[in-house]
Amino acid sequence: MPEGHTVHRLASALTAGFGGRRVRTSSPQGRFPDAASIDGWVLAGAEAAGKQLLIAFTPEESVDVSDPVARWVRVHLGLYGSWTFAGEEGFALAHAIGAPRVRIGERETRQGGGSGAADGYDLHDAATEDWRRLVPRPTTRLRIAGPHGLADLTGPTACEILDAEGRAAVLERLGPDPLRQDADPDRFVERVRRSRTSIGVLLMNQEIIAGVGNIYRAEALFRARLDPFVPGKDLTAGTVRGIWDDLVPLMRYGARTGRIVTTEPEHREIEAVIQERTRATRQNGDDDPSVVPREQSFYTYHRQTLPCRLCGTAIRSTELAGRTVFWCPRCQTRRSRRASWTTEHPAAAWADPQDGQLR
Ligand SMILES: [Zn+2]
Repeated sequence: MPEGHTVHRLASALTAGFGGRRVRTSSPQGRFPDAASIDGWVLAGAEAAGKQLLIAFTPEESVDVSDPVARWVRVHLGLYGSWTFAGEEGFALAHAIGAPRVRIGERETRQGGGSGAADGYDLHDAATEDWRRLVPRPTTRLRIAGPHGLADLTGPTACEILDAEGRAAVLERLGPDPLRQDADPDRFVERVRRSRTSIGVLLMNQEIIAGVGNIYRAEALFRARLDPFVPGKDLTAGTVRGIWDDLVPLMRYGARTGRIVTTEPEHREIEAVIQERTRATRQNGDDDPSVVPREQSFYTYHRQTLPCRLCGTAIRSTELAGRTVFWCPRCQTRRSRRASWTTEHPAAAWADPQDGQLR
């Protein structure tokens, strides 16, 4: 399942590709008949809140999204959803987003070896193709077609039309999203510290913090040296705020590059031999020599039984709230409410993997 940074990238791609343009909307699969109700409207823009994607539509360009007539298509990709883009050269900033996938008829080839659907979206590089003639797959829940390209949605968990009230209700239910400018980190801190639930479970609860998935959970806990099983109420406000402050630059890096990289440069070469265990760890640009390779990108995620990059202890894994959590039993021992956050604050030391500069 894509984590929040991918959904933010999708929102940017949709806004770049269609924002302010009149579009045709349809449901080739037929399972989203409401697509007809916004067909021919203007796609005003798209936003992400955690893993929820909200695409705004107005009947005319002159109508603001604050007008009661505005509508939003809410999409949650879930485990199997993905977007496929095709269009003119530069459409939806395809080259900036990740490895494109070319679709020629029913034959697909990958460029750059990107993971495509594993990250929640595919990209056509259809500059040399006639994208207008691309026949949607029969499973296409929603097709959005604009003057410069199209986007096809397949396999989402949710795809529905909301009015302003419905959009507000979605945002209300979600915890703050580290990637949103309007996020209130205090809401996260307060909710965590009121709970007897373990921090490892709370981080995956979209009502507590929106957009964090299994990778960011495992990695943020390691970077904080926190025991995943410590109850939220046992943590200091400073510790919880520290997790937030660490996630913001990590997730911004993910939103900017499409890749999750959480390791400090000095820890990457320590143990680079890793077996690829699942497709879930594939990321866009995996075959690009200029990016941090996937086997060096994480401290604990899918590294169970491999030695910890810091202490050499075997990384452990177990089920926690239905998802596998990964941790180092030696490094991640912080439990006490008196534990000091100020020593070894990871965010202060985290360098951008692309340029090695402090962010
Ligand atoms: Zn360790």
